[in-house]
Amino acid sequence: MYADLLEGKAIIVGGGVAGLLAARVLSSHFEQVVVLEKDVYPEKAVPRNGIPQSHHIHILLMKGKQILTELFPNLESVLISKGAHKVDLLADVKYHLATGFAMRLKSGMYTIACTRQLLENSIRHELLIQCQNVKIIDNSRVTGLTKCTNGNRILGVNALSNDALSDFYDGKLIVDATGRRSETVQWLEKIGFEKPPKLKINSWIGYATQKYKIPNDLNLDWKSLIVLTNPPVNHRMAVIYPVEGDNIVMVGLLGIGKTYPPTDKGGFEEFAKQIGVVEVKEIIEKSKPVSSIFGYREIGSRKYLFDKMKKWPDNFIALGDSVCSFNPIYGQGITVAAMCAKILKSHLENNGKTNNPIEKGFSQSFQRKVAKANSFPWLLGTSEDLRWPSSEGPRPNLLTKIMQKYVNDVMLLGPESEIATRSFFAMLHLLKSPLVLFHPSIILHILYKKIVKNIKN
Ligand SMILES: Cc1cc2nc3c(=O)[nH]c(=O)nc-3n(C[C@H](O)[C@H](O)[C@H](O)COP(=O)(O)OP(=O)(O)OC[C@H]3O[C@@H](n4cnc5c(N)ncnc54)[C@H](O)[C@@H]3O)c2cc1C
Repeated sequence: MYADLLEGKAIIVGGGVAGLLAARVLSSHFEQVVVLEKDVYPEKAVPRNGIPQSHHIHILLMKGKQILTELFPNLESVLISKGAHKVDLLADVKYHLATGFAMRLKSGMYTIACTRQLLENSIRHELLIQCQNVKIIDNSRVTGLTKCTNGNRILGVNALSNDALSDFYDGKLIVDATGRRSETVQWLEKIGFEKPPKLKINSWIGYATQKYKIPNDLNLDWKSLIVLTNPPVNHRMAVIYPVEGDNIVMVGLLGIGKTYPPTDKGGFEEFAKQIGVVEVKEIIEKSKPVSSIFGYREIGSRKYLFDKMKKWPDNFIALGDSVCSFNPIYGQGITVAAMCAKILKSHLENNGKTNNPIEKGFSQSFQRKVAKANSFPWLLGTSEDLRWPSSEGPRPNLLTKIMQKYVNDVMLLGPESEIATRSFFAMLHLLKSPLVLFHPSIILHILYKKIVKNIKN
């Protein structure tokens, strides 16, 4: 924490997870931090319009949980006190792969399971307790940016309060955290910046989610169940995830390549049956639905290459989904938003040696670091997406195809190899780089299986 905070305000547009985490970091560097959120925040942890995805399961990857704990040391105990669950990554989660269930092991690594809204709500409360210089203004929709008349800086943002009254907020640093539907590109274009290059890969995924209350006498030996797809054969996937409330789970049915799960009762149940895993069928048959069925469709992966723009405002940065939104089935969004907040922290600390860190080059070099952080999660998700012939996007080259096959082979060792299981899930939770999959014993195991298969054939 700096002894001398920078004079003036940092303005954050968007008060979802990425915006709130950025506010936590900026509060250690700026005299005042203002978060502008278009929604009215509900009192309780319930879904709101700006976050339609909150009706669906939000897995918090291990890496994300680690960063959230660093930023908010009390968050975990607050979440647990409100009914969230501690979930060991390998002992409490049953992963169904094409080759059977992955080994169940005490991993020593756990994450926290709850609804997206409880997580966001608790982060917001912790932020306001921890950071007295953060002010959150809800019901304030940003409509554009105003540029300084000379130079390359943004003066501030234009907003509508209550969708009627015009406001202007000036800031020394402006942060865009407006999520997947961000209008930043249009805002920047209006004040004279070019459109950034954009990448899009769509595997045409659909969600249908319903909450259930599990009966007390259903003695399960797991807290969460994940049934993975099997490209290009099995398009269906299911996730059962514990959330706050007495024995409450969210059941998420997912389908790739436009195999959309229906949102009517009969269709939902039939889709669940077709997944062909007895645990999913049993939960749906024996538990009581306690919510409607919510759908969500066509959520591809999209990223703006802000880091590649020749001209970029000196005091404007973007992070979270507004820069890069991932296919959500890999559960990466919140974790990558947390990684961006951590990058912002170290970027400010490194640049803070000068009197005015928000100077020429500050924002562009930040966007380059964000792009670097996004690149592995992007590759992980999109290369898996591109294993489906129905996916829209540039076809993978030979090297990518070899990698896809190798990663899949490692995953499929789940039922028989401890080291493959530990390594694969550590990578999936963004704790380890993919190099962890190249342990000699994993390579040898895969080769051995191939030789045995060839002999048998
Ligand atoms: C179906 C689905 C399932 C998902 N599952 C997972 C998962 O399992 N794990 C995971 O980590 N991630 C998951 N995600 C992604 C996750 O929701 C986001 O990555 C995460 O919330 C971080 O997003 P964000 O804060 O950048 O954007 P958002 O959460 O979208 O927040 C953006 C905020 O900006 C506000 N806003 C927008 N425009 C304006 C404006 N003009 N003025 C003021 N405010 C504005 C919005 O109201 C909102 O509050 C899922 C996403 C979807 C769609």
